[in-house]
Amino acid sequence: MIALSLAEIAEIVGGQSYDIPDPAVRVTGPVVIDSRAVRPGSLFAAFAGEHVDGHDYARSAVAAGAAAVLATRPVGVPAIVVPDVTVALGALARTIVERLGTTAVALTGSSGKTSTKDLIAQLLERKGPTVYPAGNLNNEIGLPLTALRAVEDTEHLVLEMGARYIGDIRYLSGLVPPKVSLVLNVGTAHIGEFGGREQIAEAKGEIVECLPEDGVAVLNADDPLVRAMSSRTKARVVLFGEAADADVRAENVRLTEHGQPAFTLHTPTGCSDVTMRLYGEHHVSNALAAAAVAHELGMSVDEIALALSEAGTLSRWRMEVTERPDGVTIVNDAYNANPESMRAALRALAAMGRGRRTWAVLGQMAELGDEALAEHDAVGRLAVRLNVSKLVAVGGREASWLQLGAYNEGSWGEESVHVSDAQAAVDLLRSELRPGDVVLVKASRSVGLERVAQALLENT
Ligand code: ATP
Ligand code: MG
Repeated sequence: MIALSLAEIAEIVGGQSYDIPDPAVRVTGPVVIDSRAVRPGSLFAAFAGEHVDGHDYARSAVAAGAAAVLATRPVGVPAIVVPDVTVALGALARTIVERLGTTAVALTGSSGKTSTKDLIAQLLERKGPTVYPAGNLNNEIGLPLTALRAVEDTEHLVLEMGARYIGDIRYLSGLVPPKVSLVLNVGTAHIGEFGGREQIAEAKGEIVECLPEDGVAVLNADDPLVRAMSSRTKARVVLFGEAADADVRAENVRLTEHGQPAFTLHTPTGCSDVTMRLYGEHHVSNALAAAAVAHELGMSVDEIALALSEAGTLSRWRMEVTERPDGVTIVNDAYNANPESMRAALRALAAMGRGRRTWAVLGQMAELGDEALAEHDAVGRLAVRLNVSKLVAVGGREASWLQLGAYNEGSWGEESVHVSDAQAAVDLLRSELRPGDVVLVKASRSVGLERVAQALLENT
């Protein structure tokens, strides 16, 4: 963070100073919400959570070197007291980014936000210093904490925005107004809570409504609900996708024999070939989105193609491919799952498994409301159609729907197994896996199926 005095911070956030002997003391960052992450010069933001109250850690934060605490009540050590710490963090982030003039890129979508954020960051870093969140900091606290890491020479800020309700993204994009906003797709993630895809599109489209006239809305040409968002912005629209009228387009899309996507990248200023290190064809769309953003920010097509070809996975449990010494390949995509990402991962598994035995170890896709049965059934059926060798459905009722889909599609009997939990899946796989097998592990976050992938990678 740029250095600011406690007096300046208090003014920006409209807070009252308590127990501050010297208001000229400067905060040099980082701003943290975990007292264990405090460094000399930090600002410690105290949040009252369900189980712990950050205010109880104010003293230890200051003892560890924090210049002050941002809190909702005096805490006996230097504090700036505000009615709402989340709002104060937002105000601070907005002021700092405005002052620095950093170009903010905001992205949202149902699937692939974190993956695409990591791609954009790896592209833009080649052009200039870029700040982006590690992992998944995409809410009203994580986003300002990320933005506050910007310093004088930061050129780009890449911000992931998640939406659970109408208005969430309007709030987030008001905190750090973007110059470029990107919408990846409108799927069925959280559909149970939103009520339908149109409502999801309504919420995600807020990200382009806030753009200024000289801003850029980067939209997925292949997703009708995203394409339609072009009518909701005054900014210039740039389309990406496989559609013929997309400004940034992929042609000759294929998966290599290892399951890595390859394609020719077309941009308004030329074309160049890309072969990705990442796995799964869903990364083509993510790569095009990242390319469109980088192209708008002045990168050349050759630079973009090279960066896309060299980009790796930065966030764990997303199509992490590891080969064991015995030749078994584990694909850990257990970070999360929804119907679209399940299909993409299954197709990647099928491509990687040419001539090898493939195992789909799958668990529940959460928050699907009334569509849960049909969607689990469809995934079970797809596994059969893609010639996956074995389906291991892990968990309760939803897992039985996966298995039932496979049974109904291909009369699958022994090819699919239903086990009650992660440990049972590990036990089964330990005894059944043979050299050369490829194992995909995937389910919604709440299932925690990464335990299966991790256990299979231990002691081999
Ligand atoms: P969250 O809402 O949890 O933050 P996210 O949108 O950030 O998720 P990622 O974490 O990038 O998404 O990926 C989640 C899952 O979706 C991964 O398992 C990944 O394989 C898959 N995925 C990534 N990109 C796409 C895409 N464009 N279409 C479908 N699935 C995708
Ligand atoms: Mg994410």
